[in-house]
Amino acid sequence: MKKILNIILFTFLFILLFSCSTKSNNKGNEKMSKNEKPKIDKNIQCNSLTENEEYIMLEAGTEKPFTGELLYNKEEGLYLCKRCNNVLFLSDTKFDSKSGWPSFDEAVDGSIKYVKDGSRTEVLCAKCGGHLGHVFYGEGFNSKNTRYCVNSLSLNFEPNKNDNEKPTEQLSE
Ligand SMILES: [Zn+2]
Repeated sequence: MKKILNIILFTFLFILLFSCSTKSNNKGNEKMSKNEKPKIDKNIQCNSLTENEEYIMLEAGTEKPFTGELLYNKEEGLYLCKRCNNVLFLSDTKFDSKSGWPSFDEAVDGSIKYVKDGSRTEVLCAKCGGHLGHVFYGEGFNSKNTRYCVNSLSLNFEPNKNDNEKPTEQLSE
C-alpha cells in the first residue's frame, strides 16, 4: 500500500515539476524575444503604408539618398510620422546637410524614441515605434551640432495653413 502511495506521490510531483519548468521556459522565451525586438507595435491603429514605406518604417530600412520627396521641401509647416501622424519636426529645424536625406537639428519634445544601434543612435516614433532614421552628434553642421537623418518615406508634411492666407492679408493692408 505504501509503495503505491509513494508511486502516486512521485508521479504527482514529477508532473508538477515538469509543468513548472515548461512554464518558466516559456516565460524565458517571451523575455528573450521582447529584448530582441522591443520596437514595433503592429496592432496600433495606423495609416496604411505602401510596400516601400513598410520596409522603411517596420523593417528599419533606408531609402536611397537624394530620392526623398521632402528632401528639398522648404515650405513652412509640420513633419508628421507617416504611420501615426505624431508631430515629429518643425520646418524651421530643417536644414540642408547635403547627405541626401531630410535633416533636422531638433525634434519636437517627447516625439522621438532613441535606441542604440551599434555606434549610431536609431530614432523611432515615440507613439507608434515606426523607424524614422538615425541621429548624429558633433558633426558641426549647425549650432546644435545635431543631425536627425530621416527617411522622407517615414514623414508626411503638413504645410502651415496661414501661408495661403498671408498674401490676401498683405493685399488688404
Ligand atoms: Zn508614429
